[in-house]
Amino acid sequence: MLRLPVTTRFAPSPSGPLHVGHLLAACEARRLATLHGGRCLLRIEDIDTARTRNPEWVRLMLQDLVWLGLAFDGEVMVQSRRFGVYAAVLEQLRQRGLLYPCFCTRAEIRARQEEISRAPHGCPAARYPGTCRALPPELVQEKLAAGVPHAWRVNMRRVEDSIGCPLWEDLRRGVQRCVPSACDDAVLARKDAPVAYHLAVVVDDAAQGVSLVTRGEDLFEATHIHRALQGALGLPVPQYCHHRLLCDASGKRLAKRDGARSIASLRAAGWSPQRLLDSLQAALRRGGRWEE
Ligand code: GLU
Repeated sequence: MLRLPVTTRFAPSPSGPLHVGHLLAACEARRLATLHGGRCLLRIEDIDTARTRNPEWVRLMLQDLVWLGLAFDGEVMVQSRRFGVYAAVLEQLRQRGLLYPCFCTRAEIRARQEEISRAPHGCPAARYPGTCRALPPELVQEKLAAGVPHAWRVNMRRVEDSIGCPLWEDLRRGVQRCVPSACDDAVLARKDAPVAYHLAVVVDDAAQGVSLVTRGEDLFEATHIHRALQGALGLPVPQYCHHRLLCDASGKRLAKRDGARSIASLRAAGWSPQRLLDSLQAALRRGGRWEE
């Protein structure tokens, strides 16, 4: 059952122009908040400075939201202003032995994953194979002292030892059980990005008092990682609603990089905000199939 009062959020990553997929996410967050007399917040997820390096994207996104008539409550949270907060949380996890440095290169990880997936009882190929999880401490110290580039991963086995297997609720799919040791040892910080999405999102949902996270179903699996991190950090646990994604006529998910479906390009082609919102509703009635 939905917990009241409801606070939702729309949390776009400004790695390109606002597109119709964003519009769906924004409308879902706004709709559920309004329906239940709650608040809908806006958060700019711009921690990945390599992908979101163009500050102009944020301005254009905000401009598109205004043009669409989508209003948000409270202050806008901007993740790139919060690196200090994330650093403190990472340090806390590190002190508690819940993080380990990972020195693997992408190529090494891929090679090991392929090896494992060929074995009869290998782990799912997409997961980190755990190479650096149990490196001898002297070797870790040596590599750190030598400045070998590394990421910091969460040790999900240790998280499970500490919090067990907690529950979370998806409003469409019901109660889910998170088994931390079955989750990826996700990267929480990298040398070129001081914090990664998985950590920033749980810290910020808690900081903003988000009670209901609405987002696309492509992030359903990621929510297990988020639930494990919430448990490890003692953070409040929101409810979730993973909505379906928009697809094209062939059923393929609409990709962000598909500039043709950016809000700005549709506006330039003469679409009004109402036509866009009506088309979104029509797409939802067709099971998510977007037609122009
Ligand atoms: N920033 C993410 C995106 O634009 C969404 C994250 C979330 O809703 O948790 O895909």
